[in-house]
Amino acid sequence: MEVIKQVSTIREKMQALRCSGKRIGFVPTMGALHEGHLQLLRASAQDNDITVCSIFVNPTQFNNPEDYKLYPRTSEQDIALLKSVNCDFLFLPDAEEVYTQQTLLQFSFGALEQVMEGEHRPGHFNGVATIVSKLFHYITPHKAYFGQKDLQQVAIVRQLIQALSFNLDLVCYPTVREESGLAMSSRNKRLTYEQRQIAAKLYKALQMAAGMINVKPVQSIKQEVEAYLQSISQIELEYFEIADPNTLQPLQDVIATNEAALCIAAHVGSVRLIDNMLVNLKEG
Ligand code: AMP
Repeated sequence: MEVIKQVSTIREKMQALRCSGKRIGFVPTMGALHEGHLQLLRASAQDNDITVCSIFVNPTQFNNPEDYKLYPRTSEQDIALLKSVNCDFLFLPDAEEVYTQQTLLQFSFGALEQVMEGEHRPGHFNGVATIVSKLFHYITPHKAYFGQKDLQQVAIVRQLIQALSFNLDLVCYPTVREESGLAMSSRNKRLTYEQRQIAAKLYKALQMAAGMINVKPVQSIKQEVEAYLQSISQIELEYFEIADPNTLQPLQDVIATNEAALCIAAHVGSVRLIDNMLVNLKEG
């Protein structure tokens, strides 16, 4: 595996590979890799001639400076993991390499960014759209791999690809979980053993909501989930929403809907976690 830190070098390499007819798969990450990332990398290695992973803790998408500072950075371990899944290139730039000048560009995603993560993390999706656009330009992938764990991010990137005519396919893979049900996340590295057990209750809350979705009104489900999580003192719920899986807009009822997205954000100690579950309403 080749590790590249320079934008000019990754551009040259990718251009040459494209010209020689190679198909490029791309997995953008912020590192501290886990099985959720590895699933995407294995899929890319299977589907494409060349797999590129980027590891970049993108400062512009952090609305909380403490979260940026404490975000786990484990490049040596990550490099070993990337080699184990036959990744061909790791793009590992410094912030100054990517942001050569202050970026003033503002994206707007309309209603999509006015709910959940967009509402609770001002500027987050602007930072995501900026870095994803830059990376797509550098790497020019045929396919880019994202996780359902960040459901709203997938919807934002889909809209970005469409709006800016990026010539690539977006591929989305399901959330990989710990045995406890806790969604794997780099931020889990900041949880103590006890906090990890508590954080698994977020998944329990999603399962609880999924069990009620065909039986009770949306508002009652929301109240029950909120009451359940409020009863756990170490969890501070930020939001629980039942939303349309494509538009991410809150659903008032699920009568005319085939699928719903159950989405949650909460703090366990000082760590902010998100999770979601898609439920098929036709399955009874
Ligand atoms: P991150 O490094 O957190 O920015 O994540 C990089 C990519 O991996 C994103 O597309 C995430 O949605 C995806 N990802 C992160 N955690 C998981 C998980 N537990 N299961 C599936 N995909 C994930």
